Amino acid sequence: MNANVAPERVVSLIDGEWVDARGPRLAIHYPATGAQVSELAEADAEEVDRAVRAARRAFENRSWSRMPVEARQALLMKCHDIVLAHADELALLECLNLGVSLRELKERHIRRAAFNFRFFSEVIGQGAGEVYDQTAGYRSIVVREPVGVAALIAPWNAPTALASMKVAAALAFGNTCVLKPSEQTPLALARFVELLHEAGVPPGVVNLVNGRGPVTGAALVANPEVDLISFTGGTETGRAIMAEAGRRLKPCTMELGGKSANIIFASADYDRALDAALASIFSNNGQQCLAGSRILVEKPIADRFIADFTARAARIRIGDPMDEATELGPLASAGHRDRVLSYAGIARSEGLEILHGGAAPQGLPEALWGGYFVQPTVALAPTNGARTCQEEIFGPFATIQVFDGYAEAMDKANDTAFGLVSYVWSDHLPTIERATRDLRSGVVWVNTTMTRELRAPFGGYKDSGVGRESGPACRDFYTEAKTITVPAEPITPRRLGA
Ligand code: NDP
Repeated sequence: MNANVAPERVVSLIDGEWVDARGPRLAIHYPATGAQVSELAEADAEEVDRAVRAARRAFENRSWSRMPVEARQALLMKCHDIVLAHADELALLECLNLGVSLRELKERHIRRAAFNFRFFSEVIGQGAGEVYDQTAGYRSIVVREPVGVAALIAPWNAPTALASMKVAAALAFGNTCVLKPSEQTPLALARFVELLHEAGVPPGVVNLVNGRGPVTGAALVANPEVDLISFTGGTETGRAIMAEAGRRLKPCTMELGGKSANIIFASADYDRALDAALASIFSNNGQQCLAGSRILVEKPIADRFIADFTARAARIRIGDPMDEATELGPLASAGHRDRVLSYAGIARSEGLEILHGGAAPQGLPEALWGGYFVQPTVALAPTNGARTCQEEIFGPFATIQVFDGYAEAMDKANDTAFGLVSYVWSDHLPTIERATRDLRSGVVWVNTTMTRELRAPFGGYKDSGVGRESGPACRDFYTEAKTITVPAEPITPRRLGA
C-alpha cells in the first residue's frame, strides 16, 4: 500500500483556500487492512456557512454565471484534461479510502469523472431556447438562467464518479456549488476539487466541506442561502433531506437506492447471462445502487444456472484492491461489513439457503486480516417477501429466485418498493418487448450489464428517487426558465384614470 500519497489531514476548501476546521478529527481507514491513512477535520455549521457565502459571492459577481458559453466550454474541457492527466493519483487516493480495485477505479470511475466535464461542455454547446408567437402581435422567448448556489451531496460507493457528475452539471449551467462528500471517502475528492482550481475554475465557484452527514451535510441542507440540492445516497436520508428542502421550497433531485431484478429467461444466451449476472452483483465490491442483486431465473434453466453461478462466485479472487488480479476487494467500512454480514443471519432465519459465502473469507494474507472483507454470497430464496429480497444490502450478496413463466417473473420483479433499474435476458423479441413495457423502473437494460447512456434520463421510480440526470434533465434542474414577452408593435394600453 502506498499511503504516502494521502494528505495527513483532509480539510475544507473554501473560496479557493484550504481551511482547517475546528471540529472533531475523524480517522480515515484503508478498507483492505483497517490501517488509518489520514484524518478528516469536520466542518461545523459555521464553516459550512462560510462555504455557502463564498459560493453566493462567486455567483453574485456574475463573471462566472454570465461567462460566455464558449469560454465555459473551454474551461470544462480543461477540467476534463486535468482529471484524466491525474487518473493514477486520483484512483490511488480513492482506493485508499474505498477499497474498490485500483484497476476498476482507473479504468472506469476516474475516466467517467473526466468524461462528465466533456459531456456537459458538449451539452451546453448545443443548447437552444423556445419561441412562442401564437398570441397575435406578440413574441415570447424562453431563456435559461443559472439558479444559484447548489448543495451537492455525494455517497461513498463511487465518490469521484458520482460527485463529478453533479459538479460538472452545476458548473456547466452557470451555478456555483458546495460539495459534501461522504466522511468515509473524502481523499480523492479533495484532490479533485484542488485540480479544478488548477484548471482555472475561479475561487468560490466550487467549495468543499467535509464531515458527517448529520453534522456537515445537515448544516448544508438547512443553510438558507442554498438554492437547490442534488443528493445521491440512501432512501431514508433522501426522505429527510427532501422534507427539509420542501419546508424551504428548494428544488432537489434524489438518486436513491435499488433492489434491482435481473431476470433471466430460458430463452437467454446462457453464457452471457451468467457472466453478466456475476458482474452485475459483484462489481464495485457489490456496493452499487444499480446492482442486479435480485436474480430471477426461469425454471427450465434454474438448476444449471444456480450451480454454475454458485461455483463461479466461489472462485472469485478476493484480495488486495491494489493487486491487478483481485476481483473482489473489501467493503468500504467495518460498520458496513458488519451490516452486510448480518443479512446472512437474517436470510437463514427466514428460511433462505446460503449456497455460498455469508461470512468473512478465510486464508487471506496476514497483511489483510484487519480488512473489511466479505465472501461473495449467494442465497436461494423461496419467496420474494424475504427481507434479503426486499432490502438493499449494498454488498456482494445475491439472492436467487426461480420463476415459472413470464407473468410470475413480472410479478416478482415489480414486487419491490424500489424501481431504479431492471435487467432482462432473453433472445426472444416478444418477451423483451413485453418486459420493457411491464417493468416499473427508470432504466431497463436488455441483454447487457450496466451501460450508462449519459444523454438519456437516469433515475428511479418509487423509492429509488425523484428527478433524473441527463443533458436535458440537468438543464431543467440547474436552470430557471425565464419567459420574455415583447409586442411586435407599440401597444396601446387601457388608459385608466385618463
Ligand atoms: P447515505 O444516505 O447515508 O449518505 C449519502 C450522503 O448523504 C453522504 O455524504 C452522507 O454523509 C450524507 N448524509 C447522511 N445524512 C445526512 C443528513 N441528515 N443531511 C445531509 N446529508 C446527509 O448513503 P450512503 O453514503 O450510505 O450511500 C449508499 C446509498 O446510496 C445506497 O443506499 C445506494 O443505493 C445509494 N446510491 C444511489 C445511487 C443512485 O444513483 N441512485 C448511486 C450510489 C449510491 P456521511 O456519509 O458523511 O454520513
